[in-house]
Order: sequence, then structure tokens, then C-alpha cells
Amino acid sequence: MNPATFLRVLGPEPWNVCYAEPSIRPDDSRYGDNPNRVQRHTQFQVILKPDPGNAQELYLGSLEALGIDTSAHDVRFVEDNWESPVLGAWGLGWEVWLDGMEVTQFTYFQQAGGKVLDAPAVEITYGLERILMSLQGVKHFKDIRYCEGVTYGELFLQNEYEMSCYNLDEADVADQRQRFALCEAEARRMLEKRLPVPAYDMLLKCSHAFNVLDARGAVGVTERADCFARMRALAREVTGLWMARREELG
Ligand code: ATP
Repeated sequence: MNPATFLRVLGPEPWNVCYAEPSIRPDDSRYGDNPNRVQRHTQFQVILKPDPGNAQELYLGSLEALGIDTSAHDVRFVEDNWESPVLGAWGLGWEVWLDGMEVTQFTYFQQAGGKVLDAPAVEITYGLERILMSLQGVKHFKDIRYCEGVTYGELFLQNEYEMSCYNLDEADVADQRQRFALCEAEARRMLEKRLPVPAYDMLLKCSHAFNVLDARGAVGVTERADCFARMRALAREVTGLWMARREELG
């Protein structure tokens, strides 16, 4: 959902980028009890556009570079196409399993914001906590050694617990609905001003409010379909405007 992925895969320009980023998924809240599923994990995201043709080899090489001897571990590519109905985006892809645990999603991006991409891009998303667990031979995320003498649990377990309480039990439902509507209106206002980047930022805030509502169990079937349609419509307009602005800027 980072604009460095969602917006930059559009259009014909080559784009090769990598970055680390926290990924927040309220629905993955587990109060810190689940050994490898947390509501905030860290992704290392790679985009290769156009497809260099040897992305799988490059990926396996990157695991070696991290210190994982791929011949001594069970590394599997399991078919798993990726789709974001909210963003009108999808791609063909694989999950990568390392000794039975999903550590990476590998996607050949085909479409974003309802637009077929000029040049399909390769997206590689590494789940850093899980890769660290494997590298350090620990069974629970809280036991990851973050640095000398400090564990991941010491740094982030309380955050996991409290944010899980918020996402699952405490978030005010009426307030989140209002946030959704406010951010949607602001996104529309930014589209009218021909500013696709803040419009996209507001769409991401809509998406987060929706995800919190969903984690609270407050979204019925009709409301879900309605929210998805509204967000997808915004995503489509953002991508159209982004492409138009890029062309204007030359
Ligand atoms: P799942 O199906 O397990 O919810 P996903 O396939 O939606 O995960 P991706 O969006 O593909 O996950 O995320 C890329 C990688 O990030 C995954 O391969 C995994 O290693 C890691 N990851 C995803 N969700 C979590 C989470 N809640 N906690 C820790 N790591 C995660």
C-alpha cells in the first residue's frame, strides 16, 4: 500500500526500489500470544520493474546473503495469487515457505487501481520477524534478539498487547465510521484539486479505519461491499489522476 509500490508500478518508467516498513493489520491482533502473527510486523519490500526475468534466483541469492543456507533448509514456492479488492490490484504469485513457515510473498503485479500495468512488476515482500526467527532459531517473536541484550518482546510485546486490546475490544465503532467518511470526503476534495498523492494518503486512512471496524467485528456483509466499492472507486480515480499528472510533468 506504500505509494512507492502502488503508484510507482503504474506507467512505463523503470522503477527498482526496496524499503523496510511497518505493516499494520488490526485483524492480525492476537494480544502478543501468537508466536508468528502480530498486528504490526516489519516488511522489507522490493519492486523490480520491469521484471528482470530471474527474480526467483535473485530472491534465493538474497536469502543466502542473509546467512540462510538454502541447500540445508526446506525452501518452497507455493502458488498463491495476491489480490487487494480495496485497491483494485492483483498479481500472480507464490508464498515462500522456509521450513514450513511463510516468510515471503512473491507477486507478479498485473493490475493496480483497476489498470492493467504497462510493464508487469515483480514485488517481493519479506516478513522480517519470521526470517529473523528462522535465522536465530527462536520459536516466538518475543524471543528475537533485537540487539545485544535486548529482545523484541522487551521492545514490542506491550505494544502488541495494548494495540490488540484497542483493535479487538476498545476502538470506538461510531468514531471509526466517522473517520472513514471524513477521510473519504477529504480524498474526494484532493482529487478535485488534482492532487493524487494526498488523495491516496486519505484512501489509506479510510482503509485503516475500515480494518479497525472489521477487527472489532462491526462490519456486516452489505457494509463491507459498500466500503470496498467506495475505496476501489477512489483507488481508480487516484491511479488515473496520478498517470495524467505524470504525463503532464513530462
Ligand atoms: P497471511 O496470509 O499469513 O495473513 P499474507 O500472505 O497476507 O499473510 P503478505 O501480505 O503476503 O502476507 O505479507 C508478506 C509477508 O509478511 C508474509 O509472507 C509473512 O512472512 C509476513 N507477515 C504477514 N502478515 C504477518 C503478521 N501478521 N505477522 C508477522 N508476519 C507477517
